[in-house]
Amino acid sequence: ASVMVSSYLSDHPDGGWADPRTCADLLGCYGIPQIPWVWARSESDAVHAARRFRELHAGAVLKAYWPGLVHKSEEHAVRLDLTDDAEVSTGYQDFAERFRGKLAGVLVQPMARRGVELFVGVVQDAVFGPLVMFGLGGTATEVLADHAARLAPLTDQDVHDLVSAPRCAPLLFGHRGAEPVDLEGLGQMLSRLSRMASDLPQLAEADLNPVIARPDGIDIVDVRLRLV
Ligand code: ADP
Ligand code: MG
Repeated sequence: ASVMVSSYLSDHPDGGWADPRTCADLLGCYGIPQIPWVWARSESDAVHAARRFRELHAGAVLKAYWPGLVHKSEEHAVRLDLTDDAEVSTGYQDFAERFRGKLAGVLVQPMARRGVELFVGVVQDAVFGPLVMFGLGGTATEVLADHAARLAPLTDQDVHDLVSAPRCAPLLFGHRGAEPVDLEGLGQMLSRLSRMASDLPQLAEADLNPVIARPDGIDIVDVRLRLV
């Protein structure tokens, strides 16, 4: 991972937000898989990728990408749950038109099944170094500000404390007769991310939001990493 970061930084001397491939590769080095995605540069690429996800009984998601794009929903750069070829084609064409001149490509993902939308992040504290953040995610993240933080690297006890700390925690442990979410998978992801944060001082910020947690596993559907 350190080698990857140095080669990335020589390409981007000012640091900044890493592209989706770099984000996926870096997380991959630490055993943190994202939901699968395919990079499409044409309408037919997108349609073919979406068909593969539909064979797995998932609708498709399109996300526009260009360097510097940060808040995709605000820019109308996310299309969810596209269920046939025509919807995917129209979605791709909309992006091509709306983002003419800057669109670098489109990420095609399967729709994750419903679950609790969580936020997992890393920030650098000037005094303490990397902190791992955890809390309620999705569009309510900033509004509700329901999150907790612990210093990296996380011990097993830290992971347990961190997962239990936000007010939304009861939603994870089997709320109103629901099955608990995959707490082992969630804890493993948090400790692996904390390892990554401790290893890589160049990691200025990580923002995994949402991480969708269900009893049968977790899906990381959106990742942003800032490298300095
Ligand atoms: P951004 O945070 O840049 O606006 P996201 O990739 O997080 O963009 O997408 C916005 C929202 O769309 C997410 O908070 C989530 O609710 C939903 N979403 C995104 N990708 C998926 C997916 N693969 N499956 C299900 N829902 C998704
Ligand atoms: Mg997001």
